[in-house]
Amino acid sequence: MSRNATKDEIKRAYRRLAKKYHPDLNPDNKKEAEKKFKEISEAYEVLIDDKKRDIYNKYGEEGLKGTVFGDTGFTWNDFTHFSDLHDIFGDLFNSFFGGNFFRDSDFFKYFFEGHGKKQDRGRDILVSTEISLKDVLTGVDKEIAIKTYVECPKCHGTGAANKDAIKTCPKCHGTGQIKITRSMGFFQSVTVVPCDMCGGTGKIIKEKCPVCKGTGRILKKKTYKIHIPSGVEDGMRLRLAGKGEMPKNGVPGDLFVEIRIKHEDGYSRDGTTLYKELKIDFPTAALGGKIEVESIDGKVNVKIPAGTQYGDKIVIRGRGLPPLNGKRRGDLVLRIKIEIPKKLTRRQRELIEKLAEEWKL
Ligand SMILES: [Zn+2]
Ligand SMILES: [Zn+2]
Repeated sequence: MSRNATKDEIKRAYRRLAKKYHPDLNPDNKKEAEKKFKEISEAYEVLIDDKKRDIYNKYGEEGLKGTVFGDTGFTWNDFTHFSDLHDIFGDLFNSFFGGNFFRDSDFFKYFFEGHGKKQDRGRDILVSTEISLKDVLTGVDKEIAIKTYVECPKCHGTGAANKDAIKTCPKCHGTGQIKITRSMGFFQSVTVVPCDMCGGTGKIIKEKCPVCKGTGRILKKKTYKIHIPSGVEDGMRLRLAGKGEMPKNGVPGDLFVEIRIKHEDGYSRDGTTLYKELKIDFPTAALGGKIEVESIDGKVNVKIPAGTQYGDKIVIRGRGLPPLNGKRRGDLVLRIKIEIPKKLTRRQRELIEKLAEEWKL
């Protein structure tokens, strides 16, 4: 095919080659056909896409790394021209297998679900940890201990005593799936179900791993060090991907750590602002004065203006909390309460009585 091939020419060439090497049409040589089919599809993906084709013409295959092929190679998710495939295979297979072909075949699964082998995902685990307001201010490292199923260290999750004990399932030939073909008049419908012999894994274990007894996982206490960032809010969750429970066959779930913030000394919080009650006596309220107040990071001197009223707010700038991933701290807001003594000494009583007389004048 020339470098200046038209899209129709490319499509025609792909149609011819894809039919030739389609794995389902090469049952005797499935592995090789699969490889070829992938290569052809890769090439097609590049040729049919103007942008990718430009890159290829300029920089060669290397240039496409990270755009189509990535580090791990072509995956079917990279294939962006599903409709072309339907063009190419639709008419052929629709008449051949009946309309279910695109829904039921292995081929379809290649594109949308990887290889269709059964892989469970383990359960997520949720734990909570409590931190102080000061921890919110500075951020804090915590150790999280959980007891959960993890991958068996002896067999690395395969469940087999050794490498030779793993055999390809003879019923499904390692695909994890079996086809059930039904005749419906002139048509045939093909349904794909998980293989009952291997449970959909595609493998048979001849000799089980003695440590995990073939399950591929063991119950173990695990400790994880996590960093809780400054500025977190109550109820936020940190996610440790893949640190959840390991299922019998598949990939582990996630571990979530929920942050609980201790209630401390009458503090309440609204985002970066902290609120706290401040009790003062009524002479200080009337005359004003200086008071030492405890904040989450040490003592602060607060000036009380003369004539302070019950319910007044005194704002101390920058003594609240930082936002998540930020530095600039919010404010500490003191809500004033004026304490009226419940019991008085004789002298106090005399003085207040005098004050009261003075007031009436
Ligand atoms: Zn094991
Ligand atoms: Zn099987």
